[in-house]
Amino acid sequence: MKKALSLILLVATLMTLASCGSCGDKQKVINAVTTTDSSGTTPPSSTTDPDSTASETNSQTTSPQTTVPQTTPAETTTPSETQPTHKHNYTSTVTTKPTCTKKGVKTYTCSCGDSYTEDINKTAHSWKNATCTSPKTCSVCGATEGAAAKHTWKNATCTTPKTCSVCGETTGTVADHTWKNATCIAPKTCSVCGETTGTVADHSWKNATCTAPKTCSVCGETTGTVADHSWENATCTDPETCYICGATQGEALGHSYVAATCTRAKYCSVCYETFGSPISHSYNNGSCTMCSKADPNAPTFKITGGLPIKVRGCVITSVKTSYSGSTLYLTISGNRESGTGDVGINFDVFPYGYSAHTASGREYIRNVSAGSSFTLTVALEDAIRSEYKTYNIWIY
Ligand SMILES: [Zn+2]
Ligand SMILES: [Zn+2]
Ligand SMILES: [Zn+2]
Ligand SMILES: [Zn+2]
Ligand SMILES: [Zn+2]
Ligand SMILES: [Zn+2]
Ligand SMILES: [Zn+2]
Ligand SMILES: [Zn+2]
Repeated sequence: MKKALSLILLVATLMTLASCGSCGDKQKVINAVTTTDSSGTTPPSSTTDPDSTASETNSQTTSPQTTVPQTTPAETTTPSETQPTHKHNYTSTVTTKPTCTKKGVKTYTCSCGDSYTEDINKTAHSWKNATCTSPKTCSVCGATEGAAAKHTWKNATCTTPKTCSVCGETTGTVADHTWKNATCIAPKTCSVCGETTGTVADHSWKNATCTAPKTCSVCGETTGTVADHSWENATCTDPETCYICGATQGEALGHSYVAATCTRAKYCSVCYETFGSPISHSYNNGSCTMCSKADPNAPTFKITGGLPIKVRGCVITSVKTSYSGSTLYLTISGNRESGTGDVGINFDVFPYGYSAHTASGREYIRNVSAGSSFTLTVALEDAIRSEYKTYNIWIY
């Protein structure tokens, strides 16, 4: 109300000045305003309205607004009888800006001096998020809401205690160093802050080999010379060889061969490697001369007429056969029943299925007296033929 009254006074003063002044322009202005107001049909076209400097918006309605309060003092002071055709034409001005704590005020003013005000709603708070030191806070009025947030703790290190990464607040003490053992390069050192203690350690020596001298596995420092080779004995196939670097010297020993037999291939008596395959059996007299295996193709002999055989006063009671190659051996034994002196015995060998004999012979039992026994060995050459397996031996 106070402001409205002040404005009215201001307008009145201006009008007074205008009317009192000698400047024709100002006179014109007054006239124009007066004319417009009196006509009530057209809005004022003049931009030299004294009120326009304070205006934000220009309401150019020709009829009073319906929101005009009936109790406005301006209206009550305006005699309706003097200007019965005047219609208010209000210009609004924000006279008090609203804040987040106080409502604002908009003032509507008519050139006649009539005015009224309207409240403008409070603005919203300008909230800033809560931090670990302050709750949610309006940056304009300082109003708060809720509580402060929790600290964002970072674990203590050997250089800083537990610390809030947001506000920097600390709690407790620094942590222990994270020590790394001393090496020959660096003393015991904290891997976090780099602090050291004590002195460097001894080298970590690795023994010399035939390829490298004694060497520190940490710094690579060497001392002395390379070591001797670590020789492994020569074998049948490899010369003396260093099992570390693979160097060799001399020659391989070569295999120690053992000849093949009919049961086993040629082999090395040292490494037992074998070569080739077993040789054939060497059959003689019914079996293998090396392994004694029975000859599956051995010939068989049959005494014609069977035993005993009576020949010229002698009785043959046993005939043993053997052979070597193609020669058949007969060992006959018996006793003499009558007479004295030499006794001739005949032998023929007949292969089964062969029309003639393959061998024949005559041997003497020498100086045998009646009642005594005898043994006679006979060799019959060429008696055995590979194509025949069964033989009849005729003794007469
Ligand atoms: Zn008015
Ligand atoms: Zn606020
Ligand atoms: Zn904090
Ligand atoms: Zn440290
Ligand atoms: Zn070292
Ligand atoms: Zn070596
Ligand atoms: Zn060998
Ligand atoms: Zn054999």
